[in-house]
Amino acid sequence: MEYEGQICRGPMERASYMLPISVGCSYNRCRFCMLFKHLSYRELPLEQIEEELRRVSGLGGDPRQVFLGDGNAFSAPTERLLAILGLIRRYFPGCRGVNMDATVRDILRKPTGELEALAGAGVRTLYLGIECGLDDVLARMDKGQTMAQAGEAIEKLHQAGMGYGAHMMTGIAGRGRGLENARALAGFFNRARPDRIVNFSLFLHRRAPLYQDILAGRFLPADELENLREERLLLSLLETEGLAYDGFHDCITFRVRGQLPRDREKMLRKLEVAIGEYETREPVFAVVP
Ligand code: SF4
Repeated sequence: MEYEGQICRGPMERASYMLPISVGCSYNRCRFCMLFKHLSYRELPLEQIEEELRRVSGLGGDPRQVFLGDGNAFSAPTERLLAILGLIRRYFPGCRGVNMDATVRDILRKPTGELEALAGAGVRTLYLGIECGLDDVLARMDKGQTMAQAGEAIEKLHQAGMGYGAHMMTGIAGRGRGLENARALAGFFNRARPDRIVNFSLFLHRRAPLYQDILAGRFLPADELENLREERLLLSLLETEGLAYDGFHDCITFRVRGQLPRDREKMLRKLEVAIGEYETREPVFAVVP
């Protein structure tokens, strides 16, 4: 199958077989995101999806884990998702779980019975863009969700038998608000118990709407030093036992990962070293040249 768009999946899905079921993102409004802005959302025909499964199966493929693409595959109608999950079971009998990205609103839109049916048909983990812990920032980013809605959606999917991985971005709250955001996010995650957190620290494309906000003075970006301090505070406050954490700062090629609380001290030491280094440098802002 020819893939349209940028391949977008978290590091925990690297070993999964990626099966696109749609092109683009049906929401596509977040002001920081340029992944799918150039694409019109559409669902791929079931025949095309089945043809791809047949092709891979014919080559001897039987992956244990499948990741459904693209930007928010979970927005598809439940009936369609169940049909795709049925095809996956038919062609990949060894598959133990199917994961995908979802928005908070897509989860809230689906009745509990549909969520249970999806869990029963093999959906294990949804990846949610939680992004930050502050409602005014979510509204400014046009994220389309509040923290209360995120909490409600997570409660619903936990009750249905699914887990979730949270995506977040240090720096999203803007200059001077990193520590405030770290406290709010830690409080949220300590209540909402993600299995994993991936921090894609804010990294702006010059064509992103948020970059225009910076140029117009509507958003003041934090520098990487503030983002590292935000991450340090967040890691010191997270309490969930066994929580996997992976933080990327692409602009300064810094990454910190481990399991909490087991690796907390090691992760904080790594952050301390990076913070010490950036305290002596000119501010660095994460913008794609
Ligand atoms: S961040 Fe996610 S939901 Fe928002 S526009 Fe990008 S892909 Fe769509």
